[in-house]
Amino acid sequence: MIITLKSGINKAQVDAIQKSIKKFGLTPHVSHGAVRTIIGVIGGNDYKYKEQLEALEGVESVTPILKPYKLVSREFRKDDTVIDIKGVKLGGQQVAIIAGPCSVDTKENLLLCARAVKKSGAHFLRGGAYKPRTSPYAFQGHGETALKYLAEARKATGLPVVTEVMDTRQVDIVCKYADVLQIGARNAQNFDLLREVGLCKKPVMLKRGMANTIEEWLMSAEYIVSKGNSNVFFCERGIRSFETATRFTMDINAIPAIKHLTHLPVIIDPSHGVGVRDYIGAIALAGIAAGADGVMVEVHPKPTEALSDGPQALLPVTFDALMNDMRKVAFAVGRTI
Ligand code: PEP
Ligand code: MN
Repeated sequence: MIITLKSGINKAQVDAIQKSIKKFGLTPHVSHGAVRTIIGVIGGNDYKYKEQLEALEGVESVTPILKPYKLVSREFRKDDTVIDIKGVKLGGQQVAIIAGPCSVDTKENLLLCARAVKKSGAHFLRGGAYKPRTSPYAFQGHGETALKYLAEARKATGLPVVTEVMDTRQVDIVCKYADVLQIGARNAQNFDLLREVGLCKKPVMLKRGMANTIEEWLMSAEYIVSKGNSNVFFCERGIRSFETATRFTMDINAIPAIKHLTHLPVIIDPSHGVGVRDYIGAIALAGIAAGADGVMVEVHPKPTEALSDGPQALLPVTFDALMNDMRKVAFAVGRTI
């Protein structure tokens, strides 16, 4: 890192700063310019002592050279990471499709949905058992019962299951049934939960917090990977903006940005990013065109019976048509579905 000192600083103050740097086990290299003195600091982690160094008398700014995330960065691994989830390869040439209801309601609806999306060519079944609802009075999910239905649907269709884990106390039970652990937008910076799923073997789909920068999102992934679980992929699900015509604002920019900054795969969730049934298809296609490695879409065979997000759920027939359109866009950008 580079420490820029305030102008007018005297030798005794520079010496005191150097002494503090050495105290942290780091090596200072002082450079006196015509106007300013800067100190190049070698050794250690650029972030461990950053704030202590900033607090030293006479320091104007501390500029890290390294990124605040490492294992997930492109510098660490040049090639794209391809995650193999029960034979479905995420992050390679194929665009993976995850479809299913927002939350699991009845077993019949789930099986109906799973069979329909499978027939249309989806690769994964999604469905919430533990739901992160904004209101404590809204439906909170059927918990383990829903996990059991998901396992039955997997058995019936062969589709691996993606489902959300909201709390460190749920990690064991969700691991027992799920093939992919979903970390929702509201938990994207629940660092204890990130560490806990980092100790699991199951792949993790990390959604972007609705007010998180791309760098914060990458650091969340670093929490998981640094605990030993490198099977992590990102899911852009829209961010908060001033706009109210759609539920969130889909940050398509994030797709190429993430692909540039990290070797891990990224998918797009137009259902939550847009939240308006009629616009979801267009944004799913835009995501694939922008380079997304997958698309997650909410589908429900009877949206009026859905216990959450019914208004944005696609009917199976609409999803089927969207699959055809997604195939065409994927083909146009040199990929398959
Ligand atoms: C979901 O996928 O059902 C969900 C709750 O998404 P998010 O965390 O992005 O709001
Ligand atoms: Mn939902």
